[in-house]
Amino acid sequence: MAQASRGVMLVTGGSRGIGAAVVRLALTRGYEVAINYQRQAAPAEALAAEAAALGRKAVALQADVQDPDAVAGLFDAAEAALGPITALVNNAGITGRAASLAEADPRVIKDTIDINVLGALFCAREAARRLATTRGGPGGAIVNISSVAAGLGSPDEYVWYAASKGAVDSLTVGLAKELAGQGVRVNAVSPGLIDTEIHALSTGESGRLERISPMIPLRRPARPEEVADPVLYLLSDEASYITGANLAVSGGR
Ligand code: NAP
Repeated sequence: MAQASRGVMLVTGGSRGIGAAVVRLALTRGYEVAINYQRQAAPAEALAAEAAALGRKAVALQADVQDPDAVAGLFDAAEAALGPITALVNNAGITGRAASLAEADPRVIKDTIDINVLGALFCAREAARRLATTRGGPGGAIVNISSVAAGLGSPDEYVWYAASKGAVDSLTVGLAKELAGQGVRVNAVSPGLIDTEIHALSTGESGRLERISPMIPLRRPARPEEVADPVLYLLSDEASYITGANLAVSGGR
């Protein structure tokens, strides 16, 4: 007999990397999952196809989180396919090509802020409107994927990215307080160096994992699955008294 559903989760940027690991773990834990992506449909569709074997439902949904109308449409489509959303993982993000701030392309800075900050705000806003028990919603939980970059500052790599994650941290603190009486917990997970395509594709440095690893107390990057576990924990009932927290998953960095 199929496991009872744990609820409906929306993972932004769920098609690859950390988001995909969250999707896979969520499916095995009994969630139905909406997998958002921006450009590449194939990985999202392939991931959604894995759900049936687990007796679960998943749907791949294109939307650019920078666009508030697209975000509203994303939530509508997810709920039409799977039912009321109870969990949001605000994960979609980019770094932009690494550079000093003086040399950085202003369009890269703007895109990073638009996706990482506005995208997270628009998705959190939409979740607040639909999950809050005071608005007739089911209650639930949000996890924002921040970064230890917020505290490190990422000099000579992407200070704009670090600044964008600082904003995500403030969003987490404020929204946790705002929604605490409305049945919705809000937390952040701050990954350190995680082995995903973001390093080669977004920062433009293919050897970044090898260069940074010796600076990490645990001396290695993490696998995306090592981030997914704490995300699922913070969304679960086992974390029922945790809101406004920010959990570093950084190997001690
Ligand atoms: P990734 O492998 O590059 O995957 C990024 C995902 O985000 C993809 O699914 C991509 O979809 C999606 N995406 C990008 N722009 C989007 C947009 N405008 N709207 C909707 N989806 C969009 O990235 P990752 O390394 O897993 O990173 C995930 C999150 O963790 C990010 O917020 C990142 O800042 C954070 N983080 C990562 C690390 C690390 O070391 N990897 C460390 C700290 C924090 P498409 O493929 O369709 O473009």
